[in-house]
Amino acid sequence: MARGKRVELVKIMVDGAEVDAKACTKCGDVKALTDFQRKQSMSCGRQPLCRTCKTKTGRGNVQRNKWTAEEAMF
Ligand SMILES: [Zn+2]
Repeated sequence: MARGKRVELVKIMVDGAEVDAKACTKCGDVKALTDFQRKQSMSCGRQPLCRTCKTKTGRGNVQRNKWTAEEAMF
């Protein structure tokens, strides 16, 4: 097995079929690779964050920017 910080792929059962899966680096949930968007530069060819976290992160950044703007007004 290769050493280093490679993403560890595991097998999970989805609808009775075994599929490749990995743990999301944010929520820690093990999800099927189809729950991760493709990204060529990653070692496994997928984003480190699952789609759910990716969406949340996107919204979170917007909210955080808003907060920073409000704080800056003080
Ligand atoms: Zn996640």
